[in-house]
Amino acid sequence: MSASPELPQPPEPIEDAGALVGAPDAFQRLWTPHRMAYIAGESKPSAIDGPHCPFCRAPSRSDAAGLIVARGEACYVVMNLYPYSPGHLLVCPYRHVADYIDAMPAEVAEMSRLTRIAVRALSRVSHPAGFNIGMNQGDVAGAGIGAHLHQHVVPRWLGDTNFLPIVAQTRAVPQLLGDARAALADAWAVATAAEDGAVRDA
Ligand SMILES: [Zn+2]
Repeated sequence: MSASPELPQPPEPIEDAGALVGAPDAFQRLWTPHRMAYIAGESKPSAIDGPHCPFCRAPSRSDAAGLIVARGEACYVVMNLYPYSPGHLLVCPYRHVADYIDAMPAEVAEMSRLTRIAVRALSRVSHPAGFNIGMNQGDVAGAGIGAHLHQHVVPRWLGDTNFLPIVAQTRAVPQLLGDARAALADAWAVATAAEDGAVRDA
């Protein structure tokens, strides 16, 4: 027997942010719109290996559900759940490896290639004035999830470090992660063609 259309539909399930990729920091965030439930997942996972590692789990989900921008052979690109600025991306190997020097040559090469394409895609989508690019290796260096290597690509704009972090330990992140992911995924093919052309002509 089919359900009556008059019956009230169940509310959309609220997704546990622990299933998404992120490198936490000490900041709270102003999310807009307010229905974003990610803030509930601010706490760092207690055990970070195997099935508990968000960087290992993300690729098994759809691009939209996992906030994945692009997938390569050895590495993938994902929105950071805890962005320093809108469009903050992470480039990660699929393999659960902690240290940069333990990454295999194919992983190192593709992390570099995807980082360059990420810069091109972000430049097309949101025209940042600059970028911070790099890895925090080890807890002492500020790695949120040090067990799984990831490279940050953080777009920067003049004045993006405004008064909020100082007075309220809060950063304003005005763009929805899902919207940012879709825009970057749309720009990815053109950015990849530009990168391939630049490498070919070098
Ligand atoms: Zn992992």
